[in-house]
Amino acid sequence: MPSTTGPIPKDAAAIVLLRHNTVPHDPEVFLVKRSDKLAFLGGFHAFPGGQFDPTDAEVAVENAADVELRTAISCAARELFEETQVLVARGGDALTQGQRASLLDDLQSGRMSWPALLKHYELHLDADDFTFVGRWVTPPFSARRFDTWFFLVKCPSKQNAQLSDDGELESGEWIGAGAAHTRWERSEILAVPPVLHALKTLSTGFTDDLVERFLSLPNARHEPVRRIEFRPNYICFPVRTPTKPPATHTNCYLIYTSQNLLVIDPGSPYEDEQRALATAVDKLLAEGRTLAGILLTHVHPDHVGGVNALREHLGDVRVWSHQLTAAALPDIQVDQMLEDESVLALEGEPPISLRVMHTPGHARGHLCLYDERTGTLISGDNIVGLGSVLIDPPEGNMRDYLHSLDRMRALPNLSVIFGGHGPAIANPYRKIDEYISHRLDREQKILEAVRQGSATPKDIVASVYTDVPPKAHAMAERAVLAHLEKLAADGLVSQLADENWVAEN
Ligand SMILES: [Zn+2]
Repeated sequence: MPSTTGPIPKDAAAIVLLRHNTVPHDPEVFLVKRSDKLAFLGGFHAFPGGQFDPTDAEVAVENAADVELRTAISCAARELFEETQVLVARGGDALTQGQRASLLDDLQSGRMSWPALLKHYELHLDADDFTFVGRWVTPPFSARRFDTWFFLVKCPSKQNAQLSDDGELESGEWIGAGAAHTRWERSEILAVPPVLHALKTLSTGFTDDLVERFLSLPNARHEPVRRIEFRPNYICFPVRTPTKPPATHTNCYLIYTSQNLLVIDPGSPYEDEQRALATAVDKLLAEGRTLAGILLTHVHPDHVGGVNALREHLGDVRVWSHQLTAAALPDIQVDQMLEDESVLALEGEPPISLRVMHTPGHARGHLCLYDERTGTLISGDNIVGLGSVLIDPPEGNMRDYLHSLDRMRALPNLSVIFGGHGPAIANPYRKIDEYISHRLDREQKILEAVRQGSATPKDIVASVYTDVPPKAHAMAERAVLAHLEKLAADGLVSQLADENWVAEN
């Protein structure tokens, strides 16, 4: 099997916009915050950019012989204009702010296409204004993947970046690259690896080798990222697993301090993936850390499939889980049982204290971990960044699940959720609210269907899960059963002797 599966990356481009006449030792960049409402990377800090548009390729770009580069520059310039109102085009300085605003209106309303607009106003793009600083591919653990070209661009002197009112971006600000990177180090913001790399690279200032430093990482030259540090000291290391589509990977987490390392959910049964993980663990240990242990969030094979291999590789390792998880895994030796409110302390700098939460619902012995200092929640499969959570009785229990979601919702200062699949979740409260209302909405519809005479999970799926394709109906029936069991526990329905259910009056 190839080591990269998942959706094919879409072409995209982004611009690291430098403030006009910024100080060379700590340049200011225009950093935006993506709206909490966005399904993809909502709440993340980023640079202006977006996907290629079919018309981008029609724009002539001076000094760019290569058609792909030309298209990427055209896309980057258009996205920058649309999102920040900054127009980086030769001839653009002659336009007044009002004229630029009406151009933007022409473009956004669809009255004029991007190529037609440039032509009409005798503007042209020049590759010399766009310094190529890398091409990054989203790792295959995400539902949406991009192959993104990054360009470093100086903001024209007479223009200022100002967010357009399209609802995609929540805020934007000029900030020193060093200051922005410090905000990440303090766990105040979340950003994807190429953004962090740009901030870090720029924070050392405009050296002669600036572009080389940008391109020094293999990841900046198209090699997919394996170690993703959305938050300092929390490495997300997705490994390929036989998991539930659309997911193709399970996130293993490596939580480290200067002295300790904790491994969570080494789930891959595949040798190449186990080797890649072992190498990443070895590297962290070689830097002088000791392994605290391996922790299992829950019993499912895509979360525990690599435990024995990693243990064999490392030798003497302690494995931790809830006792219900341990009891269901006869092939894995669990050394220490964790309960609700247990605390795991990682010594060293920064000291990390993880509060264990027993959060059944998806699985009986499911554990989550909460780091109160930074508001970081490791949520296992209770909340995921990709796909949906299956509640499959008897291991799954909808009543327990909703109670677990309520407990997570009540955490006082949640700032990020690291789920078992997909990217980090930077809008945690909104996400949990969506989860809860989605379930309650389904529950209401199921209750209504039973009241209208649908008696079996099969009948109920046919009338309620109209948005789900037939091939997923078997799984939907399991979810319906979980809802029916909860409704029965709430006294609203009851089961007859067979598979039939009736409403209580
Ligand atoms: Zn699971």
